Amino acid sequence: MKYDVLIIGGGPVGNYLASILARDFSVAVVERKGSFGGKACTGIIGAANYERLGLPEGAVINRLRGAVFYSRIQSFEVERKTPQAYMVDRKTLEKALAERAIKRGAEYYMATTFQGFRNGKAVLQHLGERLDVEADFYVGADGVSSTVAKAIGAKTKAEFLSGYEVEVVGDFREDFVEVWVNKDLNEDFFMWVAPVNRGLARVGTLGSIEALNRFLRVRMLKPTSIVEFKAGSVGFGWRKPWIRGNVALIGDAALQIKPTTAGGIVFGMLCAHALREALLSGRPDQYEKLCKDIKNQISFGLRFRKVFKGMGQENIERVFEVLGSEEAREVIETQADFDDHVRTAKAILKRPRLLAKLIRISPSIVRYLV
Ligand SMILES: Cc1cc2nc3c(=O)[nH]c(=O)nc-3n(C[C@H](O)[C@H](O)[C@H](O)COP(=O)(O)OP(=O)(O)OC[C@H]3O[C@@H](n4cnc5c(N)ncnc54)[C@H](O)[C@@H]3O)c2cc1C
Repeated sequence: MKYDVLIIGGGPVGNYLASILARDFSVAVVERKGSFGGKACTGIIGAANYERLGLPEGAVINRLRGAVFYSRIQSFEVERKTPQAYMVDRKTLEKALAERAIKRGAEYYMATTFQGFRNGKAVLQHLGERLDVEADFYVGADGVSSTVAKAIGAKTKAEFLSGYEVEVVGDFREDFVEVWVNKDLNEDFFMWVAPVNRGLARVGTLGSIEALNRFLRVRMLKPTSIVEFKAGSVGFGWRKPWIRGNVALIGDAALQIKPTTAGGIVFGMLCAHALREALLSGRPDQYEKLCKDIKNQISFGLRFRKVFKGMGQENIERVFEVLGSEEAREVIETQADFDDHVRTAKAILKRPRLLAKLIRISPSIVRYLV
């Protein structure tokens, strides 16, 4: 049994990669679970990239066109005429991508765990039996705690955070997401309320379960109205290298995740295109270079995170005053890009009045972000 490419991990990124490789290479995917989905994830994906990447329409369960930002004492709203982000059902997304990959020729090993490499082959555990599978190229798409990353000796000093999310019954604005930035409730991250529909929302945060509990109380959502609870983790930082010999890491396994919002699906898929290009050209070593744009976005996100962590709630209130101003909202409403935060920040900092106000709050905001 020998393949051109063996992908370890059938999450959104592994399945997407399989679907775009399967026409040009013999591809197999190994997935530990017996079925797709189940991961803690709000499932919000930028609408423009969703269309550009050709992701399955059937997975979209809601369309979001605006956001309301809340701090401790104020709030402002940004609104677009058309949806800027989609909310997906993860199971449907992952399964549809796997089906697409299989139709293009990929083979799937479900309920199969990658254990390590031996003699150039992947050692798998499949229904109680050991299976050795050989490939010319291996890809670790096995998530944030990647076994493949360990197997190739990839190192990280990233910040790892636990994520907690509930689906809760309530009364929500169907096409607006809420973003709450309040360090009294959570020092580590913002809190979000992302509607599935008018009567149900995904509410979550990163950090601690206590922070989520505090937020649910402040947002007046009853713990007894929760219909689903999930926990997971994210890593903000670098895991290096992304490629060693004939093994590459992709998606959360490579920590290709936005430190600003913890969104990782689009970055992983954009890097899947970079890996495809590198493999097609016969120069897999070019993979990291071809991910240059995503690397820039991650670098920006890490600097943003540093600023956020160093900022007290008083300064967050002052930043809210600036971002809630008519001028800033106009910039956000016309130029913000859901996945390109560098572009969004540049558009805001290009306005002299906004720039001057932000420098007055903290020169480090501008020093770090520009
Ligand atoms: C609370 C929370 C909310 C989030 N919200 C969003 C969001 O709204 N939008 C967004 O874009 N991102 C979000 N994320 C991040 C997002 O979930 C990840 O970036 C995304 O799942 C990465 O996809 P992946 O395919 O790289 O990894 P994963 O989804 O983790 O998939 C990895 C797959 O590999 C399999 N696997 C692992 N080990 C092995 C092994 N040894 N052998 C075989 N298979 C294995 C796993 O079973 C899994 O199916 C959120 C994360 C958290 C924690």
